[in-house]
Amino acid sequence: MKRSIVVLALAAVVAAAGCERKDLGRTGLVNVGKHTWALIASGPTSVEGLGANSGFVVGSEGVLVVDARYTPALARELLEKIRTVTNAPILYVVNTHYHQDHTWGNSVFKDEGAVIVARPETRDAFVKYSPIYLDFYRERGAEAFALIADVRFVAPDTAFADGAKLDLGGVSVELRHFGPGHTAGDAVVVVPKDRVAFTGGLLTNGYHPNLGDPGADFDNWLKTLDRLRGLRVRRFVPAQGLVCGREAIEGVKRYIKAIREICVDALGKRYPLEDVVRTIAMPGTEGWLQPNILPFNVQAVYRHEIPRVVNPDFALDLPIEFLILDGGGDRKMGYIRWGSQSKEGYLEIETQWKTSSSAELIVQDLTDAISRYGQLGRRLMTIERTRRFDLPDGPAVGATGTWKSMEMAVDPGKGLWSWIMVLRGGKVYVIQCATDAAGDAAKERRNIARLERIAETFRQAR
Ligand SMILES: [Zn+2]
Repeated sequence: MKRSIVVLALAAVVAAAGCERKDLGRTGLVNVGKHTWALIASGPTSVEGLGANSGFVVGSEGVLVVDARYTPALARELLEKIRTVTNAPILYVVNTHYHQDHTWGNSVFKDEGAVIVARPETRDAFVKYSPIYLDFYRERGAEAFALIADVRFVAPDTAFADGAKLDLGGVSVELRHFGPGHTAGDAVVVVPKDRVAFTGGLLTNGYHPNLGDPGADFDNWLKTLDRLRGLRVRRFVPAQGLVCGREAIEGVKRYIKAIREICVDALGKRYPLEDVVRTIAMPGTEGWLQPNILPFNVQAVYRHEIPRVVNPDFALDLPIEFLILDGGGDRKMGYIRWGSQSKEGYLEIETQWKTSSSAELIVQDLTDAISRYGQLGRRLMTIERTRRFDLPDGPAVGATGTWKSMEMAVDPGKGLWSWIMVLRGGKVYVIQCATDAAGDAAKERRNIARLERIAETFRQAR
């Protein structure tokens, strides 16, 4: 008798393990715990919601949705899946972070009466960046825009502190925030009863993680992954990819560490960014989806690591937003506010820094996740010399060099400009562009004199 119980128990274990393999390792609606479901995206394309997973937790009082998907249509599909499980009201939506593939379906659940919950950083970033992303898709053409034409921006209603609990009736859900990682406002949704956690963008499984967000923090991301591993959880629902265990955490950790090592090594050898983008091979990522994100990840890591590797004689910690005064007569320009909308769109700038002391080439990518969707084309700025300026309100470092459009054909002057930039306290105060001085010292002096006048105007205008 005893023996048959053991055999039965073993059979149950085998059945459960078999069940896990069969039912957890697939896309579509997956029951990951007694009260918890994940909707695993079928692939990374736009119509599949950019690969972003979502899910829901069901209590006797109602439902909590984790992430609202990329479009209202995809959100409605999630709502239909929920209705195959329960007719209970949708009480909450948690946005694990602000990215569009997790938030643009919010309106569907708002209309159901749900309260939308996120970190304050997520709410701020949603408000700031959603219109920018929308314009990006609008300008990419009718097909890309048709998918999201009916998106109605619904920002999170309320913010939570780390450790907040939401009661769904017999099932509680814990909201955790371990500091910035994938974005500044990552939320992890834990269902302790089911020992399940939804990780948001902190974790991907078989997809390249996205390191390009301006709010990303790689050091803290690695620490957070360790904390995820320490949660009393059996299953993780990653942002993208199949339901997984702790092994996926190791995969993302290895990825972040490897790409940083490669970039730090390349920076030390003064390899230009574009060489690294062209040649980088990431170990252990064969077959991972969304490899197109890797170049952006390299750019982002270069931007983060440069201050640790090089020690130039001026601050490299440039702000995302600053004014550029372009006096070069470019028909498209004028004042451009970096990373936010102007009538011209969004500007991407890649900068090549050459320190005056070492004459070694250092590459800095000044783009952020938004401005890289530039409508004005890519520009390459090369610093040829730095020098000190005495401006009326104190000393500043100026840099001179060339500024070249990557799509030269569309720019006047063959896209080559000399420029002068004043940096103080990590801020860019002014950039003056002129037609190429081409080593003409007198012309450069005139440019600098003009810069000083412009800087003075700018100072007075502030
Ligand atoms: Zn994301």
